[in-house]
Amino acid sequence: MGWEGGLLPQPALSGHWAEKLAEEVRADMTTREKTKRVRIGDRVIGGGNPILIQSMTNTKTEDVKATVEQIHRLEDSGCELIRSTVPTMEAARALGEIRKEISIPLIADIHFDYRLAIAAMENGADKIRINPGNIGSADRVRAVVDCAKERGIPIRVGVNSGSLEKDLLEKYGGVTAEGLVESALDKCRIIEEAGYDNLVVSIKSSDVLMCAAAYEKFASVSDYPLHVGITEAGTLLSGNIKSAIGLGLILSKGIGDTIRVSLTGDPLEEIKSAKLILRTLGLRKGGIEVVSCPTCGRTEIDLISLAGQVEELASHYSLNLKLAVMGCVVNGPGEAREADLGICGGKGEGLLIRGGKVLRKVPERDLLSALKEELDILAGISSRAEMS
Ligand code: SF4
Repeated sequence: MGWEGGLLPQPALSGHWAEKLAEEVRADMTTREKTKRVRIGDRVIGGGNPILIQSMTNTKTEDVKATVEQIHRLEDSGCELIRSTVPTMEAARALGEIRKEISIPLIADIHFDYRLAIAAMENGADKIRINPGNIGSADRVRAVVDCAKERGIPIRVGVNSGSLEKDLLEKYGGVTAEGLVESALDKCRIIEEAGYDNLVVSIKSSDVLMCAAAYEKFASVSDYPLHVGITEAGTLLSGNIKSAIGLGLILSKGIGDTIRVSLTGDPLEEIKSAKLILRTLGLRKGGIEVVSCPTCGRTEIDLISLAGQVEELASHYSLNLKLAVMGCVVNGPGEAREADLGICGGKGEGLLIRGGKVLRKVPERDLLSALKEELDILAGISSRAEMS
């Protein structure tokens, strides 16, 4: 029978069909091993190594104390590479002090002045980010490259839609994915001609679809590892949505070796979001995944505030499990049973469920502490298992 209007016929969402689709997406995601391996301090990206999460400090780099304090907070939350801007010689010198106090590789972000790039490397930067187009003549680029080569320091070549060269704007009639890719390849060539190919590339645009298309095109013609991010993504809400969509599109194609979620806000939020994006795509294991229902007229406990408290509590455990916070008995017990640990709300109380079994009924005011007790028990079990 043909389709006569109304809804389009839908393919049957059989387990087989859905699993096949999921397998295809996962197969795409394995193409990361094609990229070149690049060492940044004591970490390696590319060539199938785990995708590293990075962020950028927003303190004055010259203020060593404030910058180190911020980096320590970022390290504790899971940041694996950190970048600081180097706009002055004083900032370049501060890198040396900062480097001694932190345990993750430090990247120097340089614009315009090649001497700052050299000073940053002399002061211990583990990687530098430059735009070869704005640091001056070929001699100056060569001086930076020679210094990087001598020390084995990788260079990130960054292309940004906001600073695309005039000739490429004219050639492509404005900012386009093709123009961004050509600009990135031109910049790599400048450094390659100076005799160096220890490179990481980023192509940033605040236009999510253009950015994804540009990364895909670049990855099809080059094996340099890619730093992936959506630039000027925005404040917490819009930045997270744009980054999740953009990074989701790019990473699900197997593209990306290190990521940065750019948010107008506390850099700690960038780390939380980056971890969630990687975990959602199955690219990172570990940490508690909290699922919670949206609440509705059936909810009889303060689930919104409880879910927030549970998420905060869960962030302190490195357990690899799923935790469900559900409002009522409609979907609650089912979802909570599928999770490793769950709460299913009732009237002024809730069921505590572990491993599919109801452990006990708990008054609403004690739900969070009851959950904490269970997490502590599981954490104890897992640390004993690790030690044995
Ligand atoms: S689990 Fe219950 S409370 Fe939560 S949205 Fe579904 S029906 Fe509503």
